[in-house]
Amino acid sequence: MSNNTTYSMEELACPQCGHKHMLRKYKRINVTEKAGLKEDILKNRLFVFRCEKCNYLAPLTYECHYTDSKRKLNIYMAPEVTEETEQTLRDLNEKVEGTKRLVDNINDLKEKIMIRENHMDDRVVELVKIMVINQIKKEMKDDTLMNILFDYHEGEMFFLVFFEKKGVGKIPFSLDHYRQIERQYRMGILDHSRDDFMKVDLAWAGNVMFR
Ligand SMILES: [Zn+2]
Repeated sequence: MSNNTTYSMEELACPQCGHKHMLRKYKRINVTEKAGLKEDILKNRLFVFRCEKCNYLAPLTYECHYTDSKRKLNIYMAPEVTEETEQTLRDLNEKVEGTKRLVDNINDLKEKIMIRENHMDDRVVELVKIMVINQIKKEMKDDTLMNILFDYHEGEMFFLVFFEKKGVGKIPFSLDHYRQIERQYRMGILDHSRDDFMKVDLAWAGNVMFR
């Protein structure tokens, strides 16, 4: 099958000590075929560089097509979208079906996977985020919100909010609220959706909400 997991071995020198490593770099990860890789991504074991000599640790982001062929979920991670990336996406768009998303970092990749694990729609979740951000506006007066990410642990769903000064906080995720937003913005969501690798983030949700 052409949708199988593929990788290449590449040499990488540690940015801190120069020690040379051979790394497995995935071009495509199909978690229907290799379920363990999904767990590896979620547990931060995959897109990470760890030097065996000096213990240097850093995220390792590179272009990769994540696919769950059974659940029809496709996420393309590209730190930068070059002309080559756009060509790759056009080719891929013809070959794969289902949900197609573009992300530029590992946290967003993990978030999209986790949202799907909970049988939800990332488009609605981004809309819910805007509501949550509005609710915590007071706290943002003397601090800066750096990021907000969906997460879950032992059946409890929540948003992790990352403030510049206060650090990380947790806001409960309400499924009722999610359903309400899903109903309320059904048409807007459809109007702003395309059948290609589209970026679904806060900016996208802003366009749906404030069009
Ligand atoms: Zn090193």
